Amino acid sequence: MKSISCKEAVHYMLVREEGRLPLLKRISLWRHLAICSLCRTFAFQNKLMNAAIKQSSATSSTLTEAEKEKMIGDILNSKPK
Ligand SMILES: [Zn+2]
Repeated sequence: MKSISCKEAVHYMLVREEGRLPLLKRISLWRHLAICSLCRTFAFQNKLMNAAIKQSSATSSTLTEAEKEKMIGDILNSKPK
């Protein structure tokens, strides 16, 4: 199985969020994440961002300035494991 580039990995992550990434591409993505710390960091931050958006959209349709600042702070302070 050929390895994928970081660009492809990011694309796969975005498609995966929509829940329509085929199994073989998911496996390629897992393999890439296992060897690429940059993409692991992106995946981690993207997950935080999505969680914050989901939480916020449960109560309002737009982010307040305080919510935006908190989100940015959370991302900047986060350290992937
Ligand atoms: Zn990568």
